[in-house]
Amino acid sequence: MKELSSVASAVKASTTLAVDAMAKKMRAEGLDVIGFGTGEPDFDTPKNIRKSAVRALLEGKTRYTPANGIISLREAICKRLAADLNVSYEPTQITVASGAKHSVYIALKGLVNPGDEVILPAPYWVTYYEAVRMVGGVPVVIDAPESANFKITPDQLRNAIGPKTKLFLINNPSNPTGMLYTGTELEELLNICVAHDLYILADEIYCALVYGDGKFVSAASLGEEIKKRTILINGVSKSYAMTGWRIGYAAASPEISKVMTNYLSHSTGAPSTISQYAAREALNGSQDSVEAMRKVFDQRRQVMVQRIGEMEGVSCLEPQGAFYVMMNIEKQKGRTLGGRLIRNGDDFALAFLETAQVAAVPCSGFGAPDFLRFTYAASIDDIGRGLDRLEKFLNG
Ligand code: PLP
Repeated sequence: MKELSSVASAVKASTTLAVDAMAKKMRAEGLDVIGFGTGEPDFDTPKNIRKSAVRALLEGKTRYTPANGIISLREAICKRLAADLNVSYEPTQITVASGAKHSVYIALKGLVNPGDEVILPAPYWVTYYEAVRMVGGVPVVIDAPESANFKITPDQLRNAIGPKTKLFLINNPSNPTGMLYTGTELEELLNICVAHDLYILADEIYCALVYGDGKFVSAASLGEEIKKRTILINGVSKSYAMTGWRIGYAAASPEISKVMTNYLSHSTGAPSTISQYAAREALNGSQDSVEAMRKVFDQRRQVMVQRIGEMEGVSCLEPQGAFYVMMNIEKQKGRTLGGRLIRNGDDFALAFLETAQVAAVPCSGFGAPDFLRFTYAASIDDIGRGLDRLEKFLNG
């Protein structure tokens, strides 16, 4: 038979999902596995949102909608963007898709021609790298080391820009690092994009999950010049514990929105109608649950950071956003743990899962091979037990 698509065949499976799949398999075999793997709130979707979905269903809201989403959802998105992020968009500038992951993909489809370069700070969310390649783009990775708080500098960005650069992709707060750029840092970076006529893909899905003195500033709030070349990505998965409902969106100029909508209309069409009504309730209804969940995440974050900080031979920075902690395992390299020689985070994650039955994500797929990502979207009880096991595992 003829070969499969070379572009599709080059796509790697998500490392996040691979660890999760192995953990699920071990659980199915009856093992007590503690999961710090996938980035998914462990809370139920708030009741008012679930009820609104039932209502939509009973009212027969079960047919196709416009490809870019129902108007009342796009209005609710605009209202929330204005209230929470101080940015103003018209409903025609909003493209609703089947999750923020899909929004990232159609935004890349809408902007990137084969051979165009996309600048991506590492550590990055694993999907970005693959999605850029899936649309024929070339990821140009800039290293944001732990010593620089996992942030890139303006000079690094300038030096990465070449004649083929089309787009700068920034995720703030970041998955996997949990780091947050200040408004000033962000503005400096994005003004460089303006000066070099680049588009900006700003994934702000964790904007509601910011802790301590961190203050979230949206890329699109930094002036018209930046805004008009920015595609904001957001969604309901993380802030409203709605990962399975599959609603994300992009806010962009009318021209870009039109291209994304056309693309959607010939691929998935609109996302699930029932989910759109639920997302509308999430955005229009009480926001108390968002703050309640954020507070719980914050407590867990503090426990996790403190416990890892107290352990010998591993370390982590204190993240300011999202729900992840990056644990540095550099000092473990060369040791044998659980019968495995530890050469990098992949070995460590595997040995840790096999021996201690704890699933954390190795960050090789995120461009940071000496790190493991722990999510604190897990119960405080699991966090305590998982870190007890880590301590024991490190003690050999
Ligand atoms: N963007 C980032 C940075 C993420 O970490 C994730 C999920 O892990 C997504 C987007 C995807 O969100 P959704 O579930 O809405 O597709």
